[in-house]
Amino acid sequence: MVERIGISYANCYLLSGEGGSILIDTCNYKDGPKILERIKDKNVKLILLTHGHFDHVSSAKYLAKRLNVPIAMSEKDVPIIGRGEESALLGPAPIGRVVSFFSKFVLKKSTYSVFEPNVLLEDGQELSEYGVKAHVVELPGHTKGSVGVLTDDRDIIVGDAMFNIFRPTGSRIFEDEETMRQSVQKIKKSGATTIYVGHGKPIKNV
Ligand SMILES: [Zn+2]
Repeated sequence: MVERIGISYANCYLLSGEGGSILIDTCNYKDGPKILERIKDKNVKLILLTHGHFDHVSSAKYLAKRLNVPIAMSEKDVPIIGRGEESALLGPAPIGRVVSFFSKFVLKKSTYSVFEPNVLLEDGQELSEYGVKAHVVELPGHTKGSVGVLTDDRDIIVGDAMFNIFRPTGSRIFEDEETMRQSVQKIKKSGATTIYVGHGKPIKNV
């Protein structure tokens, strides 16, 4: 079961199975206590980060400490953790420029605790040891180390590999446009019926 925790402009998700739950992404630093309140009794066994941008990782250290659980992400995004303003990306489309400007503005005002992930995720990695029937799907392009989680119930949580601001699109900002587009096709062909994005409402994949 996927529960959207939309307490800021970036979504995070609680993915629950029979044996436990995984928190996917963590929003901004100030959001940590509110997220904790929502998930503290949900048997969370892992914090999984879809990628290294500040609006997805900033509460990771705070929550990992309080829940006493490991943090997982792709090794390829470890270098952008804590790099602050450098992790804001330029977007070529008008919306991308707005997002980019906004992210730099927020970054100047926000600080977060740098951390080291405990688990490095790879394509196809099963997540059953954390209580859910799902696996990791690499979705590079937005960042090199972007990953999604595809569940056996055919839900997919994709971080910023797709956006749903005004309408469903590929990522509005990206490190590599071609791989970003390939990742969008991978999501659409994944067999998932619902796509859960980092920004905006879920998308029906029909
Ligand atoms: Zn992002």
